[in-house]
Amino acid sequence: MIATTFDRQTVADMDAADPLAPLRDRFTLPEGVVYLDGNSLGPVPKGTAERLQQAVTQEWGEGLIRSWNAAGWIDLPRRVGDKIGRLIGARPGEVVVADSTSVNLFKVLSAAVKLNPDRRVILSERENFPTDLYMAQGLIQLLGQQHELRLVGADEIVAALDDDTAVLMLTHVNYRTGRMFDMASITAEAHAHGALMLWDLAHSVGAVPVDVTAAQADFAVGCGYKYLNGGPGAPAFVYVAERHQPRFSQPLSGWLGHAQPFEFSPYYRPAEGIARYLCGTQPVLSLTALECGVDSVLDADMDLIRHKSLALTDLFIQLVEDRCAGYGLELVTPREHERRGSQVCLRHPQGYPIMQALISRGVIGDFRAPDILRFGLAPLYLRYVDVWDAVAHLADILATRAWDQPQFQQRATVT
Ligand SMILES: *Cc1c(COP(=O)(O)O)cnc(C)c1O
Repeated sequence: MIATTFDRQTVADMDAADPLAPLRDRFTLPEGVVYLDGNSLGPVPKGTAERLQQAVTQEWGEGLIRSWNAAGWIDLPRRVGDKIGRLIGARPGEVVVADSTSVNLFKVLSAAVKLNPDRRVILSERENFPTDLYMAQGLIQLLGQQHELRLVGADEIVAALDDDTAVLMLTHVNYRTGRMFDMASITAEAHAHGALMLWDLAHSVGAVPVDVTAAQADFAVGCGYKYLNGGPGAPAFVYVAERHQPRFSQPLSGWLGHAQPFEFSPYYRPAEGIARYLCGTQPVLSLTALECGVDSVLDADMDLIRHKSLALTDLFIQLVEDRCAGYGLELVTPREHERRGSQVCLRHPQGYPIMQALISRGVIGDFRAPDILRFGLAPLYLRYVDVWDAVAHLADILATRAWDQPQFQQRATVT
């Protein structure tokens, strides 16, 4: 625990003692920016530009179509999938990179309801990320409204499980509050009620330790562009426990999920294993960038990442409480370590203009409607002094009401 009175030098000493500190140099971060939005779009690893240059000029430019084999393009979804698998405790062959998180949710939800045909309910949290809920709604409509999406509060989930629950779909770390579920115990509850368990790891992978095998999760999905630093719109991943893979072929039955795509048979026959969760041709350049991003995380020890993540978020919370008291900020993220992801979220009625004022000073977080200031604290490249500086700006903006200017009220399309 940190002493209650400390100054910037005390915090700089924490950086000097930080075993992950050298990793910051692996990323390109603009001068004068404190980047607290790596949970939405990770920064670019230093090797990515050069690797992409090589992929464009040599693999694409020189190799042309031959590179599907010679440069291993065709294997990228499985190869990068296996690397991500190491970050979530999956075995080789249980993760593949493909499409977007939304599309992958559709695939695994389809599988889950087919595998539990006598049950009607997809259970989820009302505060889940909307796309997860929208994809369930679209699937239910496609299946002829025979199913129901049942939404409950985070504390009511276990009580809402019953023998009509086909699948429980949850996001491990909530995008708006940073609250983390206990993956193993909730999965066990779902299984005890005969339901399948689907985890969305968008705000977990690369940020908190995850072990889908130990938790006996059935399915999982997650993003490539957040803590995996894969670049804007990077492809997503899907995990399907080996025991379920042969039992169902997902309905987006594109040719690259076929057992023999280059037989060009008129009849679909799913590939063995996780490859059947592929659909069409995958974006090779984006996959290449994603591989650099995943490598940037694989080089760090996950226990050290978790340790630093908790220290950063503890420091952030403590500094906000010391220096921003009396301005109406409310902590939304749980204080208990075991219930906290790698972000700190604060509620304030003027959250939007306060965040815009912070961004104008180079402290980049984001805003989630209706009133949440969200600060993602990615341990790979953030320093403890960054937290100090961010809270110093926040305190100043609140004390001087610097947020109360018309230009900070204007809403952009992406918040
Ligand atoms: C960011 C996020 C997504 C994004 O899905 P895309 O299809 O990649 O746009 C999905 N689920 C959760 C929980 C997220 O945080």
